[in-house]
Amino acid sequence: VPDNTLLAAARFHGHLGPWLVLGLRAGAYARRRLGGTPFELTARVTCPKRPPHTCFIDGIQLSSGCTMGKGNICHVVGDCCRVEFVRHRSPGRKMAKTPGRPVAKVVLALQPGVRAEVSASKGDIEHLARALYRRRIDMLFRVLPS
Ligand SMILES: [Zn+2]
Repeated sequence: VPDNTLLAAARFHGHLGPWLVLGLRAGAYARRRLGGTPFELTARVTCPKRPPHTCFIDGIQLSSGCTMGKGNICHVVGDCCRVEFVRHRSPGRKMAKTPGRPVAKVVLALQPGVRAEVSASKGDIEHLARALYRRRIDMLFRVLPS
């Protein structure tokens, strides 16, 4: 994720926070890993129903292209935090009413230590956000299949 993406994300979302950054990293990883276009992906996000955890969803939308507007992201209220990306057989450029056959999948589950680190953070959350932005993906998430 290039630095200007971080700035654009903070501008879109309204602030720079760790949950936003975790979402950005997860979505960017899924795009790299699964390839294709945002029209071929769906995302299913599991996290608690209120901010700051839901900031995770904004980060995912920005970097994965799975968005509320396109209808290819859904939020399941649950334990923090996990996202499942599925690449489907291409429906072409236009929006499909139902996604095509699944062809690949990647699941990212937040490392418990990172959750604890973010929950315990006080004060300079921008500093933490920037640190998470640079951390190796496997230090942030358990990635399945690896
Ligand atoms: Zn936020």
